[in-house]
Amino acid sequence: MTAVLVLASRAGSGAVSLGMEFCRRAGAEADLVWAGGDSLPAGAWRQAWRAGALTGAQAADVLGQTVSGASYDLVLLDEADGGREAAARVAARLDLPVIAQVVAIRADQAGVRITRSIEGGARTAVIAPCRPTTLAVVSASVGGTDGDGTARESAVLETPARTTLLEVISEYRPLPGELELDQADVVVAGGRGVGGREGFAQLEELAGLLGGTVGASRVAVDAGWIPYRRQVGLTGKTVAPRLYLAFGISGAPHHVLGMRNSSLIVAVNSDPQAPIFRLAHVSIVGKVEEVVPQLIGEIRRRTDARTLVAAR
Ligand SMILES: Cc1cc2nc3c(=O)[nH]c(=O)nc-3n(C[C@H](O)[C@H](O)[C@H](O)COP(=O)(O)OP(=O)(O)OC[C@H]3O[C@@H](n4cnc5c(N)ncnc54)[C@H](O)[C@@H]3O)c2cc1C
Repeated sequence: MTAVLVLASRAGSGAVSLGMEFCRRAGAEADLVWAGGDSLPAGAWRQAWRAGALTGAQAADVLGQTVSGASYDLVLLDEADGGREAAARVAARLDLPVIAQVVAIRADQAGVRITRSIEGGARTAVIAPCRPTTLAVVSASVGGTDGDGTARESAVLETPARTTLLEVISEYRPLPGELELDQADVVVAGGRGVGGREGFAQLEELAGLLGGTVGASRVAVDAGWIPYRRQVGLTGKTVAPRLYLAFGISGAPHHVLGMRNSSLIVAVNSDPQAPIFRLAHVSIVGKVEEVVPQLIGEIRRRTDARTLVAAR
């Protein structure tokens, strides 16, 4: 029987969703390492461990320990939340293959088949793993629906002491312009309603305050307000951040395809009938040029207040 290990840290994890679906269809069994909040994602887990919040390096240590000595056929991680980094570290340490951008997993007569997205999502490739344990990094575009069943939590796994030969002595936090769209937990996106480059400079300031990066609709890219690599949508990038802020974006299907799996969507648009509001979790009818400075001011006010308290 195929054995699966899932490492996840947030509700709506694509790794949980693909892992549970695969197990249901293939009659496989899955274990879970949970690095998220209090409640484990529902699922018929064979066993589940809590690991507390993990950096990518710590997740690699946890996975390394869990995988070596066990006989997992598949190890699933999410692209975000350090999963990509953890997969790379474990692969190098244990000499295991990694398949990135995974969008589906199934089993047939010949064995496990892993589908990954290629050419920026335009096509997919089906891969037959040929080594006993394969690491699969699930694409951020895979939405999360947790499985049925109650998790059996059989052990508490402490975050282990550092076991690696390499020690991370500092981490560099990229500026909004340096952080790639699919690496960001927060995407501040703008469309035609942002009005120009000046408007995008403000979005960049907001993204910096939120620790995120800037995205855009094709109209904004075509207007030359922001480079193409920032485009979200069918012919741009697919993203699924924890927070997607859409400023002056109508919500055309071509754009929505690239961001609809974001965990929380906040839309700001002057048109109360804008289609983006049908998708948004929080809808703000207002002008970009008024709402953005207010948000920036409010975040700065709160950050300054916290800094003052901390300094006392
Ligand atoms: C083959 C193909 C592929 C495509 N691929 C992509 C893609 O990858 N990504 C993508 O985004 N698009 C793509 N498009 C284009 C897509 O169809 C839409 O045209 C585009 O997404 C619209 O961008 P927008 O929302 O910025 O502009 P619009 O649709 O013009 O919407 C602008 C919005 O801003 C609002 N607004 C205006 N002024 C203000 C203000 N001051 N304050 C607040 N709100 C304001 C308006 O009410 C409106 O809702 C593609 C199209 C085709 C044909």
